[in-house]
Amino acid sequence: MLYIGSHVSYLKDKQLVGVVKEALSYDANIFMFYTGSNQSTLRFPVDKDLTREAHQLMIENNINKDKCIVHAPFIINLANYGEDNTKFDFYTSFFKQELERCIELDIRNIVLHPGSFTNLTKEEGIKNIAKGLNYVLKDIEGVNVLLEYMSGKGTEVGSSIDDLKAIIDLLDKNVYEKVFVCLDTCHINDSGVDIADFDKFLDEFDIKIGLSKVRCVHINDSYNEVGSHKDRHANFGYGTIGFDKLINVIYNPRLKDIPMILETPWVNRNEKDTWAPYKYEIENIRNKKFIDYINQ
Ligand SMILES: [Zn+2]
Repeated sequence: MLYIGSHVSYLKDKQLVGVVKEALSYDANIFMFYTGSNQSTLRFPVDKDLTREAHQLMIENNINKDKCIVHAPFIINLANYGEDNTKFDFYTSFFKQELERCIELDIRNIVLHPGSFTNLTKEEGIKNIAKGLNYVLKDIEGVNVLLEYMSGKGTEVGSSIDDLKAIIDLLDKNVYEKVFVCLDTCHINDSGVDIADFDKFLDEFDIKIGLSKVRCVHINDSYNEVGSHKDRHANFGYGTIGFDKLINVIYNPRLKDIPMILETPWVNRNEKDTWAPYKYEIENIRNKKFIDYINQ
């Protein structure tokens, strides 16, 4: 079955109900959201009644909650805890709080950017990420953490299968079972892999990590060439990867039943003409046919 959706907004007044309604307005059957600002720690308490109402709405509309995704805020950087580990408590306790919010909201997959090693070495960054995951996940049950495959912008860790494998290899056994991977077609392209060779990429992933560890794919086009290490998402079919190669990823039988999430930019023709592209992108994906919805 095709599980297709997009990034949607989680707002204070409507919370998960707003998330579900926005996803339905795009004809999506899954969604991804941040539980608050991705650049700050400000979080509003989860309203139980709204959560219950949202799950009822999901059941009525055949949205499978197990395929839906939360995205962790960008400010968590497990690769580098700062001078003398001063930020270890801050990053790990904020991440733990996000995991608890996932449980409260009953959306139990959370995508995490592995982090940037900045002034450390990549090897130190990898060790720190594993240390943080082992610490946070040792006594939290019922949430999957999906490490995102990154573009390799700056000092990002996770822009190769080998990086992700190195982190996963350092996980304690009961933590390993809770950690998965989220692929991203824009990031894979920008990291240096041609999406035309996606099956070769999956072969390598399967040998080194195992395809059962793939739990989500961000299906973004890219503004940049293969290997650019830039990370600028383009609308679906409007970038350097192009519609056909992206469709081949979505319908690759090896990724059957894996949630596919659009994180493409809003269309911005001018100040007054700005809108979400997801309804049109999802329609094109379902029809496997590219209709230019931006320029017509
Ligand atoms: Zn991400």
